[in-house]
Amino acid sequence: MTIVAFVMVASILLVACQPAAPAAPAAAEPAAPAKDLVAGVAVYKFDDTFMTAVRNTITAEAEGKIKVEMVDSQNAQATQNDQVDLFVSKGVNALAINPVDRTAASVILDKAKAAGIPIVFFNREPLAEDMAKWDKVYYVGAIAQQSGTMEGQILVDYWKSHPEADLNGDGVMQYVMLKGEPGHQDAEMRTEYSIKAITDAGIKVEKVAEDTGMWDRVKGQEKMAAFLAANEGKIEAVLANNDDMALGAIEALKAAGYFGADKKFMPVVGVDATAPALAALKDGTLLGTVLNDAKNQGKATLMLTYVLAKGETPTKENTGYEITDGKYVWVDYKMILLENIADAE
Ligand code: BGC
Ligand code: CA
Repeated sequence: MTIVAFVMVASILLVACQPAAPAAPAAAEPAAPAKDLVAGVAVYKFDDTFMTAVRNTITAEAEGKIKVEMVDSQNAQATQNDQVDLFVSKGVNALAINPVDRTAASVILDKAKAAGIPIVFFNREPLAEDMAKWDKVYYVGAIAQQSGTMEGQILVDYWKSHPEADLNGDGVMQYVMLKGEPGHQDAEMRTEYSIKAITDAGIKVEKVAEDTGMWDRVKGQEKMAAFLAANEGKIEAVLANNDDMALGAIEALKAAGYFGADKKFMPVVGVDATAPALAALKDGTLLGTVLNDAKNQGKATLMLTYVLAKGETPTKENTGYEITDGKYVWVDYKMILLENIADAE
């Protein structure tokens, strides 16, 4: 008998011997072996430029290690809580959660703890008292104050080297602030520490206007247009808590005649060093930004989640990241100007 004929006969026999079971639907995926690890990942909303970079890294880094089920919480905490319930009922091995409202982390934490599923929060830092509730809870993020200080420093350097930046010559920096989502550690700290860096450098400031653009480019543009309309010629600097709002502000400034042929300039600073922000840095509209390292934050989040899913305790050796106080991974920020743009690319 040839091999082909043997295989044919053997498979006919095999089929014939099968107990009568309902045929599996043809399109069904092969059942995952029991040892396959699954992580439940929820992101506060997919439609966020910085979080998109973080989530792409998580997906890429998971390759060959762990199956990632990622869901969009669509900026609604109630939706996210339901998603966590579903992950728990599916019995995922670990959770990685980017809370919608960081003060709601305790609710999610309680669910995870009750089910014994380790959890890594990222980008939106739970309150310290919540982090202390369980030993299987971690946080991956960046030190918010640092980004504010660096952002302010960019304006300090610019102001000191460009006396003409003081448009009305009063020795005071008249600025506007575009704030991220109120209550978010990065919004609060960047707003405070950027200005602190400027005043610590001995520069007097006057806040002309401040409003929240909710991390959003279109809202940033609208708020900046309103600031310009109400404060004709008075604004000497624009600080935004992130690049999307800074880019929105640049659009509004362009519409008001800045960055055009007559070289009317406005120093605008942001945070994140997203791809479109780097493009703006190159074309000379964005003065500077601060690298919010999405790659390392995404990678650290995945590594901690993976190690926890395996039932191990995260260490520098098994994750590649220093674990501070037994539960925090802090990824450094970096000041980015045109001259060191390669550090962010
Ligand atoms: C980023 C923002 C982003 C926010 C989302 C911040 O760290 O700088 O761009 O919108 O996180 O939580
Ligand atoms: Ca002035």
